[in-house]
Amino acid sequence: MEDNDLEELPYVGPATAEKLRDSGFSDLMAIAVTSPSTLAEVADIGEGTAIKIINSARQKVDIGGFETGDVLLERRSEIHKLTTCSKALDELLGGGIETQAITELFGEFGSGKTQIALQLAVNAQLKHDQGGLEGHTVIIDTENTFRPERIAQMARGLELDPSDVLKTIHVARAYNSHHQILLVDKLKEMVSEFPIKLLIVDSLTGHFRAEYIGRGALADRQQKLNKHLHDLQRFGDIRNASIIVTNQVQSKPDAFFGDPTRPIGGHILGHTATFRVYLRKSKGGKRICRLIDSPNLPEGEAVVTVTEDGIRD
Ligand code: ATP
Ligand code: MG
Repeated sequence: MEDNDLEELPYVGPATAEKLRDSGFSDLMAIAVTSPSTLAEVADIGEGTAIKIINSARQKVDIGGFETGDVLLERRSEIHKLTTCSKALDELLGGGIETQAITELFGEFGSGKTQIALQLAVNAQLKHDQGGLEGHTVIIDTENTFRPERIAQMARGLELDPSDVLKTIHVARAYNSHHQILLVDKLKEMVSEFPIKLLIVDSLTGHFRAEYIGRGALADRQQKLNKHLHDLQRFGDIRNASIIVTNQVQSKPDAFFGDPTRPIGGHILGHTATFRVYLRKSKGGKRICRLIDSPNLPEGEAVVTVTEDGIRD
């Protein structure tokens, strides 16, 4: 889509088009799928005008078609479930971490997000009947918290050869949010060589939070994050892979991000992540995992422990 398409929209003159582009709305698709209030805010226009602009953008682009239920059921029959090494957490998730879905692990620092992600990276190469995905893992590490020694510990905890397991885990550092997005693109080149069945972004939101600061940057940030999440979801759908993203939130409500268990600020995340698991620390190294907003599973909690061997009941 050409950039100058924006000016084809009603009520969008050069000044409005520039405001939109500056906020990350660089093509008609971005506008077609946004909300009137977001558009009104970033372009400094009334909501009524925003609705007209969005409707016009929707007429010009294909915002996706319909599929019959039997086709969708067929696709869902290919879904695999990846074990977490905790029976309780697997059960909470309806059998494990699903492929073709994004699972968000969120919670405060030290709540176990990275530990669970690393355990899943170890488990992904297991056979299907052992709760694995028979594939490789890609970790996009934005905080430099990947430790091969920890993978080796967890591998030994399952009586696996650490060096065999480490060979199935591909790690890339992402130095900023732009780099993070580019790395997902790069995966397309890797899939011909490696059967990538698990993609971990740890942390999904860290760079975005550090780079897009203040109210004025909110719409732009959400826009970029939204597109990033759609790229991840597409990868999961096409490769029948599981997607894990982590998201650090403060345990006490804060003015900007609000109550951590409610998707404020992380609003777009709330709508895109198919499974949201809220983690919190408890006594004696225990972690309480709470499933939130699942489309087809009851809300509930599971308790896991982080041990030297990895995640356990
Ligand atoms: P952040 O938001 O800072 O990234 P996080 O949610 O990713 O935090 P983790 O790194 O997953 O947090 O959890 C760290 C905790 O995991 C440690 O505080 C410790 O309790 C536990 N842990 C880490 N390594 C081990 C180990 N080898 N044996 C037992 N427990 C461990
Ligand atoms: Mg972490």
